[in-house]
Amino acid sequence: AKGTGRNQLCFFSEVREQSPSERQQLIGDLRQALIHQQFRLYYQPIFELATGRVTKAEALLRWEHPQRGLLLPKEFLKLAEETGLIDELEDWVFAEASAQADQWSLDTGRSVQVSVNTSPLQFIHDTRKKPWEIHTNRRKEGASNVVVELAENTLVNGSPYLQERLKSLQDAGLELALDDFGTGCSSLTSLKRFNINYLKVAPAFLQTGARSTEREIFETIIMMAHRLGLKVMAEGVETAEQRDWLKEKKCDFAQGYLFARPLPVQELERFLH
Ligand code: C2E
Ligand code: CA
Ligand code: CA
Repeated sequence: AKGTGRNQLCFFSEVREQSPSERQQLIGDLRQALIHQQFRLYYQPIFELATGRVTKAEALLRWEHPQRGLLLPKEFLKLAEETGLIDELEDWVFAEASAQADQWSLDTGRSVQVSVNTSPLQFIHDTRKKPWEIHTNRRKEGASNVVVELAENTLVNGSPYLQERLKSLQDAGLELALDDFGTGCSSLTSLKRFNINYLKVAPAFLQTGARSTEREIFETIIMMAHRLGLKVMAEGVETAEQRDWLKEKKCDFAQGYLFARPLPVQELERFLH
C-alpha cells in the first residue's frame, strides 16, 4: 500500500475492521512513529477574501507509515487519544507549527499565522503542562503566530478546567478559533466570555438548494460575529459560486479545495508571495 493515492487511502480505512491484534500493532507503530519522526504537518492555505492574500494556513496532521503509506487523522487520531499518546503528539504539532509560522513570517516580512487543531482532551483533563505553556516558556515575546482551533462542543461540555486553559492560552498571546461552528450549541455569551477570535463555519452551511436555509444561517452568523468583533472563516469551499457568495456577504477568510488542498510544507510557500 506504499505510495498509494487518495482514493486508495480512503478505501484502505474503510475496509480495515480493526481486530484486537491489529489495534495492538497500530499502538506499537504509533509509539515508533513518534520516535522515528514519521509525522508530518500538511498546510492548507487560508485566503483573506477581501484581498485574495494568504495570511494564514491550517496545519493538518499526516502519518507517513512505513508500510501503509500516508495516513489521515481519522485513521489514527482516536487511537492516539485512547492511549494517551495524543499529548506527546500534540506537543510536537504545536512546536512544529509555531516554528513554521515564525519562519514564514520572517521570510515574508509580515505576520503569517498557522492554526493548529487540538484534541478536546487538552481542555477537559487537567494533566500536565499544555503544549502552548511549554512553548511560551521557551519564548520571550509571546506566540501570536499561532491560532488554536477547538471544536465548538468543547465550550459546551462545561469542564471546570476550560476557562483556566483558555485563559492561559490567551495570556500566552495565542488566538482562538471555534472549529465546525454551527454544528454544536455554544451560546453567544460563551463566545464573548471565552474571548473567541474566529468562527470557522462548518461546510454544511455553504449548501444551496430549494428548501435550504443554510445560507441564511451562514449570513446571520457573519453579521452576528462581526457585531461581536469576531472574524469568520469558511472552510470546505469547493466552488467559485461559494467563494463569490462569501465575498459578497463579507466573510473574512476562506479555505477549501477550490483554492488548494492541504500541501507539504514547501508547496505552501508559493502561496505566501
Ligand atoms: P478539520 O479541522 O475540520 O479539518 C478540515 C478537514 O477537511 C481536513 O481533513 C481537510 O483536509 C479537509 N478539507 C479541506 N478542504 C476541503 C474541501 O474543500 N472539501 C472537503 N471535502 N474537505 C476539505 P483532514 O486533514 O483529514 O483532517 C480531519 C480532521 O482531523 C480535522 O478536521 C481535525 O479535526 C483533525 N486533525 C487534523 N490534524 C490534527 C491535529 O494535529 N490534532 C488534532 N487533535 N486533530 C487534528
Ligand atoms: Ca480545523
Ligand atoms: Ca473544521
